[in-house]
Amino acid sequence: MAFIVAIDGPAGSGKGTITKTVGKKMNLINIDTGAMYRCVTLQIINEKISLDETEKIEKLLSEINIELKKIGDEDAFFLNGENVTRKIREQEVNSMVSQVSHIPCVRERMVELQRKIAKDKDIIMEGRDIGTNVFPNADVKIYLDASAEERAKRRMKQNEEKGIVSSYDEILANILFRDNNDKTSSVAPLKQAEDAIYVDTTSLTIEEVTEKIIEIILGKKREKAEKTTGNYGER
Ligand code: C5P
Repeated sequence: MAFIVAIDGPAGSGKGTITKTVGKKMNLINIDTGAMYRCVTLQIINEKISLDETEKIEKLLSEINIELKKIGDEDAFFLNGENVTRKIREQEVNSMVSQVSHIPCVRERMVELQRKIAKDKDIIMEGRDIGTNVFPNADVKIYLDASAEERAKRRMKQNEEKGIVSSYDEILANILFRDNNDKTSSVAPLKQAEDAIYVDTTSLTIEEVTEKIIEIILGKKREKAEKTTGNYGER
């Protein structure tokens, strides 16, 4: 039986790192849905389409090929055959991705793809609307959060490690802008699912958060196994 862990939260809340680490430790396939929206954004930029050209965007969506491949230890994203893992993290994409992700046909197509990728697998999927919209029946739902300043610091460090030059003020402004866009959107706004567990990571280390999440997952796995055994017993 497939097992689904949904990790939602704002930009820089630690979702990416935590999902990767927990996925590896618990043998769950890690799917970064933000990267999928980033791929669409990059393709819109490549094709020089403006955001109100809905027909062109629909055509782009019907032709787009987004693949997730493991290259060594890295989850690499391929857009129409090209490895765009780095490109999708650049400023040009950062500043447009939130708007792109709120275009209804983009969301519809991405959610459809996300469900397809996850079918019959044990997965850990990170995003904004996984617990509320993509998998409302996920086995585990976590909402990760942290202060905006802490999130900007983390993104800055990540960029440095990847050799991407950026300024703290620019990153913080972008995070606040995206928070506002994501939370106030009329299309799938970022919000905690009612049955999600809230984890504030501001003053926690990656190891502490990882441990906490693994504990939650193990608890839910036990519950699910007990329920399944119980059901069999009744038959
Ligand atoms: O997670 P990441 O910051 O890479 O996501 C990029 C953007 O994609 C977010 O700012 C958000 O606007 C959008 N997104 C979304 N729904 C998701 C994942 C990401 O709208 N499930």
